[in-house]
Amino acid sequence: MKITDILVKDSFSKEEIVRLLHAEGEERILLFNRSSEVKQKYIGNKVWFRGLIEFSNVCGKDCLYCGIRKGNKNLTRYNLSDDEILHAAKFAFENNYGSLALQSGEIESPAFTKRVTKLLNAIKELSGGRLGITLSVGEQKPEVYKEWFDAGAHRYLLRVESTNRELYSKIHPDNKKHDFQRRLNCLRSLQEIGYQTGTGVMIGLPFQTPEDLAGDLLFMKEFDIDMCGMGPYIEHADTPLISYAGELLPLRERFDLTLKMIAILRIMMKDINIVAATALQAIDPVGREKAVKIGANILMPNITPGRYRDSYKLYDNKPCTDDSAEDCQSCLEARVSLADAEVVYGEWGDSQHYDKRRNRKQ
Ligand code: SF4
Repeated sequence: MKITDILVKDSFSKEEIVRLLHAEGEERILLFNRSSEVKQKYIGNKVWFRGLIEFSNVCGKDCLYCGIRKGNKNLTRYNLSDDEILHAAKFAFENNYGSLALQSGEIESPAFTKRVTKLLNAIKELSGGRLGITLSVGEQKPEVYKEWFDAGAHRYLLRVESTNRELYSKIHPDNKKHDFQRRLNCLRSLQEIGYQTGTGVMIGLPFQTPEDLAGDLLFMKEFDIDMCGMGPYIEHADTPLISYAGELLPLRERFDLTLKMIAILRIMMKDINIVAATALQAIDPVGREKAVKIGANILMPNITPGRYRDSYKLYDNKPCTDDSAEDCQSCLEARVSLADAEVVYGEWGDSQHYDKRRNRKQ
């Protein structure tokens, strides 16, 4: 199978994706040239910001790869006050970010639901409805998703982490709280309620094969997602999966596979939003810029108050945990121009795919 024959297509078989994931040298350049061209044509050389507020690292779950899992006792837990969250939201608004993303560990409780609703209302109020809001607070009941949607959240990111059930069960505890089917049901509810719905996977997990990754991309296409946030798996010392650290691909290879996943997805789903994940920068200082060049169009400057950032480490060596929100913005802006792209301020930067998907359904 010649790479050039594959790259003229708009959709790929599993075998073709696996072939693209193995592209090296000249073939790799051809893949990235094609994905950049698609991005230019459908998205332009633009990047939109989502000011990221990691408002709590308290989590009720125990995912085996995650640094803030409930079972990790070597961690200071924090929960930002409402005032601190609204202060960060105000920063995003005043700096014309267009959107913010509220993220936390996963808590399912009436008090948590109520708190998030209250925050959404307050953020809408302080910005006169002008800040777009992405939520990423895990699996919840459909009525909870609906309540938050009605309160003003319009995008939701729920990463599936792996779409291979068997692999999913190896990286999560075997109990009802970590049920693969529930994750899929939640994603479907989000779509049905009307959210721009995003998912994503980790790349370079122990036990993961190129066929698994190809299956992940086909799942995203089949599920008709609007947004994707995927990044390299980076091991965390205080997690059970660390015992497989010796079996992992070198970090550089995980990084390169991630770029290829982004490039292939951009060709397969031309008009979705794709995040350049912070985890890329943990491996390569200009990792996010490389992702922007070959297909990503969303960056998430961290606007969580600096003193808490060190405690929201899903993986080791997370970058920028010492920066202030201002530092984060100017650094990203300079980086984006390095990638020959331009930050668009004051716009939501919604997924074009979402509108088309909704129109198709009507
Ligand atoms: S991945 Fe999410 S749900 Fe799982 S332990 Fe980490 S924060 Fe909690």
